[in-house]
Amino acid sequence: MKKTNEKTKTAVKPASKRKSVTQRTEMKPKSTEQEREIGISVSFGKPGFKKSLKLIKDAGFKNIMILENGRNLARLLKTARKFEFNIPYVHLSYKKPFSVNSLWVNGSAREKLVKNFVARIEVCKKYGVDTAVIHCARRVNELDYTLDKEAGLESIKEILQAAEKYNVKLAFENLNKPENEYLNFIFANFKSPNLGLCYDCGHHFLHSPEVDFSKQFAGRCFAVHLHDNMTVQPAPDPWRGDLHGLPGDGKIDFDKVIKNLAQLNYKGILMLECSKVSGLSDTYNSMSDAEFLAEAYKRGKKLAVSVGQSSKKSL
Ligand SMILES: [Zn+2]
Repeated sequence: MKKTNEKTKTAVKPASKRKSVTQRTEMKPKSTEQEREIGISVSFGKPGFKKSLKLIKDAGFKNIMILENGRNLARLLKTARKFEFNIPYVHLSYKKPFSVNSLWVNGSAREKLVKNFVARIEVCKKYGVDTAVIHCARRVNELDYTLDKEAGLESIKEILQAAEKYNVKLAFENLNKPENEYLNFIFANFKSPNLGLCYDCGHHFLHSPEVDFSKQFAGRCFAVHLHDNMTVQPAPDPWRGDLHGLPGDGKIDFDKVIKNLAQLNYKGILMLECSKVSGLSDTYNSMSDAEFLAEAYKRGKKLAVSVGQSSKKSL
């Protein structure tokens, strides 16, 4: 066990060294702009983790995002590494084993949750994952962060300190309106090179299309979740509109998404957070997992070309 850790540790370069690798590739900016990489969430369907990895690999993807969802993150990363995927970011669990809402309420649940986040950030470091995506709350209107601001601030402080210690970026995801207030609250209280945004275009156009995230987060966007929906919030649960379809299968204007990515100055991997089994499952029922992934790859590539072209235009 010890041996593995040591081996992984030496494989992970400190940020300063990684930067110099980037600088060495600066000779070819054009290809970077033209060939934006794409990736997909391993939780696209229900074939199981290992089988999903194989199917994703067979579809041609090189990059993945892992939604931890209460499972053993180290084990998931170890398995994924065997398939030689690049894993730019993981999505930390927001409901298992502890609801992320506990960040905002003082007590033992909060302490356990923070400890758990810190441990998982350390795992990210060990496996060379650059960014941990985190929700600041679980569901809309389930809590009021203003009731115990001190508890929330203490939680974020401890998690951010761990992110700085292990040099892992912490990307808070935009969720819905009240939770965008959480983002504002967090970013008003903390400044750190390790603190940034995970821009979720599905949540943006479903819950808060009027918000211009680039105003606050230009240059601070560490991760993206790209997926489609009908931009309609059904009553009584607006989250049921969060369909996680393939780009083009809903009503989101992806030209606007591309513009937003440019304004956010996001240069990273275009990560699809699409699901075969969520709100648009009727559309995908007749497809096999492999067919769904082939389609996802096609749509992702199309998006990557458009993003590349828009970056070129703005050069
Ligand atoms: Zn998301």
